Amino acid sequence: MTDLRLFNSLTRQLEPFQSVHANEARVYSCGPTVYNYQHIGNMRAYVFADTLGRVLRFKGYDLRHIINITDVGHLTSDADAGDDKMEKAAASAGKTAWDIAAFYTGEFKRDLKWLNVTDPAKWTVATDYVPAMIEYAKSIADKHCYELDSGLYFDVSTVPDYGRLARAATDEGEGRIDEVSGKRHQADFAIWRKTPAGETRQMEWDSPWGRGAPGWHLECSVMSAAELGMPFDIHTGGIDHREIHHPNEIAQNQAHECSGHTGANIWMHNNFLIDRGGKMSKSAGEFLRLQTLVDRGYHPLAYRMMCLQAHYRSELEFSWEGLGAALVRLKRIVMGVEALKERVGSFSLDPGSYGRLLNHQTRLSFDSAVSDDLNTPIAVIELELSIGQKALPADERLALISELGTVLGLDLLTLTRQDLRIRPKTATITESEIEAILAQRKDARAAKDFATSDRLRDELAAQGVEVMDGDLLGWDWKLEI
Ligand code: AMP
Ligand code: ZN
Repeated sequence: MTDLRLFNSLTRQLEPFQSVHANEARVYSCGPTVYNYQHIGNMRAYVFADTLGRVLRFKGYDLRHIINITDVGHLTSDADAGDDKMEKAAASAGKTAWDIAAFYTGEFKRDLKWLNVTDPAKWTVATDYVPAMIEYAKSIADKHCYELDSGLYFDVSTVPDYGRLARAATDEGEGRIDEVSGKRHQADFAIWRKTPAGETRQMEWDSPWGRGAPGWHLECSVMSAAELGMPFDIHTGGIDHREIHHPNEIAQNQAHECSGHTGANIWMHNNFLIDRGGKMSKSAGEFLRLQTLVDRGYHPLAYRMMCLQAHYRSELEFSWEGLGAALVRLKRIVMGVEALKERVGSFSLDPGSYGRLLNHQTRLSFDSAVSDDLNTPIAVIELELSIGQKALPADERLALISELGTVLGLDLLTLTRQDLRIRPKTATITESEIEAILAQRKDARAAKDFATSDRLRDELAAQGVEVMDGDLLGWDWKLEI
């Protein structure tokens, strides 16, 4: 097998992956702040982390993956300004912050299931770790922190090379605004925020620095150390975290670890999914969620395919056409697999044949693609090529496809063409009505009555049904609202 190489944001270089513990890979992914639904851009971060985990397993590692749930502490600005996102959402919905957290955590987990994202070994929920956060803060407070009226602040000048990850032009971090008076450096950040006098928060705890709540950056340092030990292998997140959140986690890790280690050996960041129409911003009102795609008739795995078609370090521009193309591509693969399944009958692979597959050229090429910093655009092509490997008996081909599909998170042996056909939510016409009109249209065409045929086609189009004459994939129609 090819050696795995990953791009480390710390060094801005591809590096060979060497796990801290033999045969084991320990990965921490920054999870969602559960004050609202996740948009599809957020979901790209978890598709990326999941693909990384799947590749690590493919490469033979036992994976220990942690994703956290931020249910307290994340302010409306990544710098230390604004309200707590959870408290703000709770106040405007007239619910408790705990209810808000429970609801959006459930929605997030459902989206992950839809995208075939494997459950982590553990979901770490920030509010469960507050006592550990207080202990952690106590252990670094004397040497690295100072207290202001508003809370306990981390002095970034107390650790070497602050902001190295962000490659900030100055040591004060990129894009920072000094919003808190009294801070020693602009980049200093709160690790404990005191509840202002006279106020009460829904989520607050006693601490040596007064009643209050932990800082968002502290949470991830504490949960990753508690669950993975320090140092661990890989820390992931979206590229925005490379600028503030992760440099601050690193500073805390350096302060906490006697060795001054940054915490994770490799820091990996997915680039953004962008939408020119501004539908990726939660503050702008309506935004694109996985549910929006499903409501429009797109299977969630079409979105996963769309993500896989781009390298995780490239920006990916969302468009409905692009999503449609990803769906068609997935369908083409599923049809190929269905044809093979038909040929094989009941699928059971002779275990002896698996050894032969290990060194099959397509598998080796797939391996070198994913081992090259998760080059999924090439890996998808290799997967497609595996379907047409005529030299391989059909059952072996299915075994190969199943394995490669699993690495990419596409359930190819169970996914059917029918599954991929999702009814748009606002569609009123039923499948049997569509089929009946199409049958009439077929008769009209047979009788060379093109006027009637065109009228029926327009009738269907008016109801969102696109008639697909001569579609190579065998789709007679597609409903799109
Ligand atoms: P949040 O809930 O804001 O903490 O974000 C959850 C994850 O989504 C983080 O890893 C972010 O870096 C990531 N993220 C946010 N916006 C986007 C986007 N448009 N595309 C890809 N990842 C994103
Ligand atoms: Zn985090």
